[in-house]
Amino acid sequence: MSFKHDVVIVGAGLAGLRAALELAGSLNVAVISKVYPTRSHSGAAQGGIAAALGNEEPDSWEWHMYDTVKGGDYLTDQDVAEVLARDAPRAVFELEHMGVPFNRTPEGKIAQRAFGGHTREFGKAAVKRACYAADRSGRVMMDTLYFEAVRRGIKIFPEFQMLDIVMADGQVAGLVVYELATGEIHLFHSRMVLLATGGFGKIYKTTSNAFASTGDGVSAACRLGIPLEDMEFVQFHPTGIYGLGVLISEAARGEGGVLRNSNGERFMERYAPAIKDLAPRDMVSRAIATEIREGRGIGGRDYVHLDLTHLGEKKLAERLSDISSFVRIYLGIDPVRELIPIQPTCHYMMGGIPVSVEGRVLWPSGESVPGLYAAGECSCLSLHGANRLGCNSLLDLVVFGRIAGRRMAADLEDLSWVDPPRDAEHRARERIERLMEGAGSEKTAHVRSAMQETMTALCSVFRTEQTLARAAVKIRELKDRYSRVRIDNRGSRFNMELLDALELEGLLDLAEAVVVSASGRKESRGAHFREDYPERDDENCLKHTLVHTAGEVLELSYKPVTITRFEPKPRTY
Ligand SMILES: Cc1cc2nc3c(=O)[nH]c(=O)nc-3n(C[C@H](O)[C@H](O)[C@H](O)COP(=O)(O)OP(=O)(O)OC[C@H]3O[C@@H](n4cnc5c(N)ncnc54)[C@H](O)[C@@H]3O)c2cc1C
Repeated sequence: MSFKHDVVIVGAGLAGLRAALELAGSLNVAVISKVYPTRSHSGAAQGGIAAALGNEEPDSWEWHMYDTVKGGDYLTDQDVAEVLARDAPRAVFELEHMGVPFNRTPEGKIAQRAFGGHTREFGKAAVKRACYAADRSGRVMMDTLYFEAVRRGIKIFPEFQMLDIVMADGQVAGLVVYELATGEIHLFHSRMVLLATGGFGKIYKTTSNAFASTGDGVSAACRLGIPLEDMEFVQFHPTGIYGLGVLISEAARGEGGVLRNSNGERFMERYAPAIKDLAPRDMVSRAIATEIREGRGIGGRDYVHLDLTHLGEKKLAERLSDISSFVRIYLGIDPVRELIPIQPTCHYMMGGIPVSVEGRVLWPSGESVPGLYAAGECSCLSLHGANRLGCNSLLDLVVFGRIAGRRMAADLEDLSWVDPPRDAEHRARERIERLMEGAGSEKTAHVRSAMQETMTALCSVFRTEQTLARAAVKIRELKDRYSRVRIDNRGSRFNMELLDALELEGLLDLAEAVVVSASGRKESRGAHFREDYPERDDENCLKHTLVHTAGEVLELSYKPVTITRFEPKPRTY
């Protein structure tokens, strides 16, 4: 079957939905989502959304902008951070007016809490800037925006999976889409496409991300030859449940929780004397990894403790109820009385598809790809630089999702319809046929686990030239093994084995892009820590990485960082 829509949005998370709301009404807009829309990963966000409302303590957008730039280790494009920080209060009030049930102060204002790296007076002390709904902030935002989208008549296709972006005459012509319930391949003919497909934490073994976080939009853009930006910057969240990676929100530390090593010591006092456990995530994750390496993991093992016991039963039940129940269910531990074993878990991708501040996807020349836009975690606005601050992603989604939607509405007039090539679906059909009928005997699950183990062992919190070189060789071998993957399930309804195999091809491309980008950056900045180059090197490396496929290999190039207000300084907390 084929479909025709002015605009197709790939992804029903908060970025996709917020953009869709801007386009609803006069235009024929479709949103496709490979998972049921409200199950998008945005719904798993716990801690909150940042905005300098100053409801609990004095605050200003300039402090928020400064924290975002410093948190990103000065790789953040400062013009973008300014748009974010200035627009944040409006964005939060808009959510409130749509019906998001934020927690309240006793006077009835939106309540706020402390979060890592958010400070007042340019770094003097932690500030309460995160607006939240208990530890279900993403859930209530997702439900509110989804109902709003349905109310405004936006056409949503649940369980439709994009396989390829179709181009004709250098312009977007639509998408090739696989329908999970039938196994049919459809052509969606459109004038514009917005990619809002989320992150790709699934390249790692331990991650807080959902199963669907496989970066399909990022790998599809890469296949078109679009370079990917700042892919070496992978955020590890300090507090994943040990062994599982399930997230314990930073809100736990924002509410007063502390980290302890095997001596019971609150070790963050040594690493970030001013804001301690509320230092940015890259620093806390490195501190935990260092404690473990130096033998102060609990019982000599590879985890430390998160201590919430002093917060009291009432606060845990009111403010951190979901995470308390995760701990009870997954670990059989009562956080009111017992310490929680945690270790860093892959959480967020700072890199992705390069976009302008208005969401247009960019070629390295700075020209945009006609009809192609991206928003949310799959995009790289260079807002989060080398390390994202907690609560800045939900904000990014609603601020820049809206801006991208507006830009698209304005750009549409200038774009004519172009016919997709006759063989638009050819690559997709050929891939599926090869996976079903091919001669190989490799299994998707084996290749995927080997990739995840490789990335976790050789390209995580700490990296060196040697580990990255080994990772690059391994990923190449795995790509070769992938060419021999064959699936057993020949069914056409909800064939998850097929979908896993299709997603793995893109994951391997993204893993390789991360490794190659990391090898090229010979310095340590934000989440990218090179043990062989432990210092930040502004003279040679204050630049964004671009990685793109050139035949069989990946090539690197660089582009400058936009600095407006804050000159790079040593980053201490
Ligand atoms: C556990 C957890 C807690 C978090 N907590 C916070 C927090 O408190 N505050 C904060 O600011 N940030 C938080 N984050 C980060 C933030 O939630 C994410 O960065 C953000 O939700 C990503 O939103 P998105 O709209 O870009 O994509 P997602 O919400 O991930 O949605 C992706 C969408 O794309 C669709 N999709 C993907 N591939 C395809 C395809 N091939 N075809 C069709 N559809 C496709 C999916 O179906 C889905 O609808 C958290 C992240 C995690 C994992």
